[in-house]
Amino acid sequence: SFVTRASAQPLTNADSLIDSVETFIFDCDGVIWKGDKLIEGVPDTLDMLRSKGKRLVFVTNNSTKSRKQYGKKFETLGLNVSEEEIFASSFAAAAYLKSINFPIDKKVYVIGEDGILKELELAGFQYLGGPDDGGKKIELKPGFLMEHDHNVGAVVVGFDRYFNYYKIQYGTLCIRENPGCLFIATNRDAVTHLTDAQEWAGGGSMVGALVGSTQREPLVVGKPSTFMMDYLANKFGILKSQICMVGDRLDTDILFGQNGGCKTLLVLSGVTSLSMLQNPNNSIQPDFYTTKISDFLSLRAA
Ligand code: PLP
Ligand code: CA
Repeated sequence: SFVTRASAQPLTNADSLIDSVETFIFDCDGVIWKGDKLIEGVPDTLDMLRSKGKRLVFVTNNSTKSRKQYGKKFETLGLNVSEEEIFASSFAAAAYLKSINFPIDKKVYVIGEDGILKELELAGFQYLGGPDDGGKKIELKPGFLMEHDHNVGAVVVGFDRYFNYYKIQYGTLCIRENPGCLFIATNRDAVTHLTDAQEWAGGGSMVGALVGSTQREPLVVGKPSTFMMDYLANKFGILKSQICMVGDRLDTDILFGQNGGCKTLLVLSGVTSLSMLQNPNNSIQPDFYTTKISDFLSLRAA
């Protein structure tokens, strides 16, 4: 069934939104920072929300770092955020495997960067692959056969700047030759803004290669899938109706909030402009939109 949503409303009274929820989930890139630069007014906004007793949670689809590495990034930016408040899609992959009791005698083949490896290791899983895997041109002599570890029970695919054909073939063998092998994607973002000069192919491009070769659909653990929402709501014991999801992206963040039954706020400090929001071809409408989260400090009832 389709839910018809009214057009997003400009946020005019931040206090009534703040008072209506217990928890704010913030997307990171485009909301808290842009690349390595803190977005204006963020520290004061988070302080104000904490002083009002709000729970703050930070969710990112960027799988290249672990929770701990994100903790350092927050600290470097002068933000007081603990690891337990951070839910990156790298962590989500490990948490998902734990949630289904993935056997510790099985292995995980990773197409992705360091963050996923670190989280799998912390969770006690055996893995192979990672950024350094393969890399040389595969010479196809007659009869050449690529071996693979038959004990791989899951392939996890995330953003990988070292992506190559070896990894595609290895992951494909694991998935195609073992019908029970899980195919997990950290996220399927089409593009990301690695630099502010242009859009770069996102994690969805690595996932897409494996979808093409295996003809299987992955299980996505990052936004907009409900896994992280369910996980953190359960972990903190929070009602989803008491959450406001704040993000800069319609097809990941706002959908993530809506899939979870949360209130949603789009900020225009990232990838979505007002004209994209209001484009008749866009069907994803948050409850509210505003320029940036520090509007919470200025749009307060007199
Ligand atoms: N994936 C990659 C590789 C990224 O660089 C980014 C943003 O920098 C994202 C995903 C999206 O991150 P977020 O969910 O915090 O907006
Ligand atoms: Ca974002």
